[in-house]
Amino acid sequence: MDPGASIRTAQIIAVGSELLGTVRVDTNSLYLAGRLGGLGIELRAKSVVGDSRDELARLFRDAYGRADLVILTGGLGPTDDDVTRDAVADVLGLELREDPALVEQIEARFASRGLRMPAVNRKQALVPAGAEVLPNPLGSAPGLLLAGGGKLAVLLPGPPRELQAMFERLVEPRLRARTARAGLYRASLYITGQSESHVEEIAQPLYSKWRTAALPIETTILAAPGQIELHLCARSEDPDSAPRVLAEARDQLARALGAGVFSIDGRTMEEVVGELLRERAMTIAVAESCTGGLLQSRLTDIPGSSAWVAGGVVAYSNAAKVLFAGVPPGLIEHHGAVSEPVASALADGIRARLESNIGVGITGVAGPSGGSAAKPVGTVAIAIAGPEDSRLVRTVRLYGGRTQIKFSATQAALDMVRRRLLAQ
Ligand code: ATP
Ligand code: MG
Repeated sequence: MDPGASIRTAQIIAVGSELLGTVRVDTNSLYLAGRLGGLGIELRAKSVVGDSRDELARLFRDAYGRADLVILTGGLGPTDDDVTRDAVADVLGLELREDPALVEQIEARFASRGLRMPAVNRKQALVPAGAEVLPNPLGSAPGLLLAGGGKLAVLLPGPPRELQAMFERLVEPRLRARTARAGLYRASLYITGQSESHVEEIAQPLYSKWRTAALPIETTILAAPGQIELHLCARSEDPDSAPRVLAEARDQLARALGAGVFSIDGRTMEEVVGELLRERAMTIAVAESCTGGLLQSRLTDIPGSSAWVAGGVVAYSNAAKVLFAGVPPGLIEHHGAVSEPVASALADGIRARLESNIGVGITGVAGPSGGSAAKPVGTVAIAIAGPEDSRLVRTVRLYGGRTQIKFSATQAALDMVRRRLLAQ
């Protein structure tokens, strides 16, 4: 074994038949991906496998042959379907031996709750020859760490709380001592109101040059609900210049993309809007129809939002629009519930009733039924009343299923508020 060999690449294997079903998802690898990124270790692949010793052995053999570090999660329990320790010992040709100290620890854990250790738990005290035991104060399954041939295999318990505590306390320090110094640096931009291909058209000529620059920057473009995200990533040993070069690249993109860029620091739209309202000591009130309270929910996701969210209503039916926001019934009859005049009246009504600086009205067709030729599914009228006597009214055409249309409508409304406040 070469204890000094550096760890550059990793693979993750999540073990558990439940993870192949329709109810449980593997979240451990998301957590681990983040931690490995922070250490500058490149995650090459990850996989999910059921509680099958053969399948797991096949996957582990392959992963261990390719990556410097293989992390396995789950399957360290006491039952027959917990096969991780056996499969790894098989592949590495290591004998499993019972560790008397571990038996005692597991017995003591049961005794502390007034219980006798079931015989099956002895299995958790089996340790492959040469492995280091990672104690688990939060559960009964200890972790295992195997080093050899410049490589590392780490076996961690499946429950996320146990895995995370063990990783941070016992695994990360060992990895840090064996990683190349290059850290991973990231920057991001979030854009709304533009399509992915439109963003790509503007961004691509810039970022294609950075791929081969002195400090190469990798750029990923991601379509997320209501926004397009550009993620920049660079690997460097220089903790001073790398963030600066990334920030310059990010700012160049922001200038090229213009006003649709709402976040360059990972903040969400509701955080950005909340901050703008807080800075201006302004309040906002919302009367929403087709979004069913989603806009209020997003606004109040931000801690401290009571300082800027006055409140509002879900004015879903026509009667609710009249009763809660004072929309004149004749206006609805004349223009239809989904119309700019009704959106405006919702915004005015709720703003006046709650005496807020800004009122927002949203009314639209979320679908899948209820559309017409003039107002197809996805047609949403949004009005922003205030601050003072300013007014902004727009009709947008949104795409996707019902959930997506609702989210995009709140995003469009928040973006209108953002732009209005920035112009203020
Ligand atoms: P234990 O001794 O607690 O049984 P274990 O290592 O055998 O430890 P598992 O039985 O595989 O762990 O998993 C225990 C629980 O942990 C599962 O019910 C599941 O909820 C959760 N879990 C397992 N693997 C994952 C994963 N990859 N992502 C998220 N949760 C997981
Ligand atoms: Mg399991």
